[in-house]
Amino acid sequence: MKCFMCKGHLEDKLTTFMVDLGKCIVIVKNVPSQVCSQCGEVSYNNEVAKELEKIVSTMRASLTEIAVVNYPPNAA
Ligand SMILES: [Zn+2]
Repeated sequence: MKCFMCKGHLEDKLTTFMVDLGKCIVIVKNVPSQVCSQCGEVSYNNEVAKELEKIVSTMRASLTEIAVVNYPPNAA
C-alpha cells in the first residue's frame, strides 16, 4: 500500500488517536494504523475507523474531560 498523499511507503504501526470534542478530549492508544515513512500521514483501515467512531461516540456520552482508552485488542 502507498501513501495517498505522497506515494511514500506505508508502515504498520500503533499510533495514538486524539480527537477534541469541545468539552471533552478523547485519546485512544495503540491504534493499528498505517504511517507514511515519508510525510508521516496516518491512515486507518475501515474496521479501525469504524471502531474509533464507536469509541468516540461512547466517550462523548460520558462526562469526563479527558478520556484515555486503549484500543480494544480484540476489535476489528
Ligand atoms: Zn506520504
